[in-house]
Amino acid sequence: MEAAGLTVQIDPVGNVFGLPPGDETCLLIGSHSDSQPEGGWLDGAYGVIAGLEVARAAAEAGGPPIAVVSFQDEEGRFGPLTGSRVWSKALSLADADKLTDTSGQSLADARGGAPEFCGSSFVSPDRFCGFIEPHIEQGPDLDAHDQTIGVVDGIVGIRSEFYRFKGQQNHAGTTPMALRRDAFQGLARFTNDINRQFADIVTPATVWTIGHAVLHPNAVSIIPGCVDFSVQWRDADDARLDRMTEIIRETGVRVAEGSGLEFERSAFASISPTRTDQRLMERIAAGAQQKAPGKWRHMPSGALHDAANVARLMPVAMLFVPSINGISHDFAEDTAVEDLIVGAEVLAGSVCEVL
Ligand SMILES: [Zn+2]
Repeated sequence: MEAAGLTVQIDPVGNVFGLPPGDETCLLIGSHSDSQPEGGWLDGAYGVIAGLEVARAAAEAGGPPIAVVSFQDEEGRFGPLTGSRVWSKALSLADADKLTDTSGQSLADARGGAPEFCGSSFVSPDRFCGFIEPHIEQGPDLDAHDQTIGVVDGIVGIRSEFYRFKGQQNHAGTTPMALRRDAFQGLARFTNDINRQFADIVTPATVWTIGHAVLHPNAVSIIPGCVDFSVQWRDADDARLDRMTEIIRETGVRVAEGSGLEFERSAFASISPTRTDQRLMERIAAGAQQKAPGKWRHMPSGALHDAANVARLMPVAMLFVPSINGISHDFAEDTAVEDLIVGAEVLAGSVCEVL
């Protein structure tokens, strides 16, 4: 960032900003540079490097001033999008400090080990007229349709809850089927039932996942007395997300009643869908039409991104480049170099027009 003529400011939560000289209002570009276990080389990093390159090139060519950001902990060591959540004031630093990672270390402790954060201040969002986050698609759509640029028209909302079916732990050999209160059978019934009901209300872009399930005691010869599980559901329409919430909760209660189980619910997390800014989106679309005529599309983002938090502060937009075979969060994650370049060119073109 310094080599590109930017002044580096690391804020108290560890977000790294590269700020152009002067106090003129400018556009902010960036993403994150942390990764997932076995994650690839582009998720997040592409947006930071593309932004940095546009900032460098703009400074060199006498173009508009561009600021760059790399947000801290996007991938959720301490929680989803920690850095941009704190910067956008969706989460206070005091509350963020209480978050812990899977080893039990708190964010407060982790920050304490990074003296460059201490005593620093947050960058005022008033400096920026908008935020563009370039990112790899992390899905199959662009690659499957042989397209180069995705102009993101919205970021899906996410709901997730934890549930428990509680039955009676018992002997797997002596307990007649009719007398069992088997928590796993309850979960199986619940899963089939919500799949059937969702079929009537979802779109092809709606997704839902039971990604975590723990049986107790999880042994071959014991009827499980308890199952704890998560359900996460994502869609661009808040009303549809609400309807899915109702179906999940009602189905849990009904399955429990019909199976001799108890149904409990906890820890609801909700992030509303984000609309991207019409003007910024049109600029990116115009740039895409120029650099990749006929090879771009409008699309929603099914993955959550820092732009969803930054939208609380300023107009935001995103552009996607293709992920080969739709693979991400894996070492195999990749994008053709020529697509990475077109993405940066579209970004540069839209930035000059915006300012
Ligand atoms: Zn990312």
